[in-house]
Amino acid sequence: MTRNSQDPMRRTVFPASSSRAVASPIMPSVVYASETPDALDDQYEGRAKGYTYSREGHPNAEALARRIDAMEGTQGGLVVASGMAAVSAMFLGLLASGDHVVAGNQLYGRSLRMLADQLPRLGIDSTLADPTDAAAMEAAITDRTKLILVETVSNPTLRIADMKAIVALARKHGILLAVDNTFTTPLAYKALEQGADIVIHSITKLLSGHSDAMLGYVCARDPALQGAMVDTAVTLGLTPSPFDCWLAERGLFTFELRYQRACENARALADCLADLPGVAQVLYPGRSDHPDHARAMALFGGQGGNMVSFALTGGREAANRLVAAAPDLPFAPTLGDVATTLSHPPSSSHRALTPERREALGITEGFFRVSVGIEDADQLCQELSQAVAATTA
Ligand code: PLP
Repeated sequence: MTRNSQDPMRRTVFPASSSRAVASPIMPSVVYASETPDALDDQYEGRAKGYTYSREGHPNAEALARRIDAMEGTQGGLVVASGMAAVSAMFLGLLASGDHVVAGNQLYGRSLRMLADQLPRLGIDSTLADPTDAAAMEAAITDRTKLILVETVSNPTLRIADMKAIVALARKHGILLAVDNTFTTPLAYKALEQGADIVIHSITKLLSGHSDAMLGYVCARDPALQGAMVDTAVTLGLTPSPFDCWLAERGLFTFELRYQRACENARALADCLADLPGVAQVLYPGRSDHPDHARAMALFGGQGGNMVSFALTGGREAANRLVAAAPDLPFAPTLGDVATTLSHPPSSSHRALTPERREALGITEGFFRVSVGIEDADQLCQELSQAVAATTA
């Protein structure tokens, strides 16, 4: 007997339609019913395409992953629940006790904490080195080094890793090179095309772009390595939510426009800040006074990015005044939103460092990182200029 279509326990009663939806549907189903045990065998053994249980994969994650693959020039990438889930899937999927990692010394704070606090408990140790200095990276390599992890642009001082030399030394020593491409995005840098083995994104940031979805992406060139990371992610339950994937997919439709506009705004804002009394230093890779300007232009096809950092002359007191004087610029430790956001590394991402270590990195008490959004550039410059003026009043 078949239940009639109005039976309240009949689970799928979607009306038939001879026209098709223009936007992707959201598929929240955790489980998928198969026709027969033979059909399920076909699915598990790769003879047929289908889903079983959403921790193992679902259509919204797959649709998003294929779009990012296309942007990155990769195949078979995996979308997971956050950027840190992507970092975790990589380390836990590819490394074993006794392995050693060489990592950039200015990685995202939680990646550094994973290296310092989590991986040593599993017998995996690491050495940090300056990725703008390939010789320092090479000196950190040991005969146990299995993987190098770098970010193309360091946070928050926006220094540019010597990617060409790092790719060459990873090849020379037969070590996997993983690149966290969150700051640069595939529009400015395609990591696997440039010789990396693994690329990572926090989709949460620029790709999604609206601070309403938390997701990550990881893709290895070698399908066997990718398979190991997928297996680890499924077993550890690093699964993304279908709704977040759907939001991020929608965000991707405007990504190129948003990124171009944000980069133009960042350039304008950097130039405007550089002329202001009360500003001791501006760091923007697109400006010729940036220490890695030539490298940034060569690596990123002339793109300076959407991030600008600057230091106030007035220290912490000036920092407090600046934030209070810019109520419409959210003071929030994130990046990549359509709106410009301000972050103050000494009180947030870099608070765990000693003042001496921060000083050595140039992160003074008056240091800010700006994630530039897509607002009107003149208005943005005006708002921040007024806020800077309030620090010297
Ligand atoms: N990688 C970089 C460069 C980041 O800036 C961040 C977060 O800010 C992450 C990874 C972690 O991403 P998520 O916050 O999505 O876990």
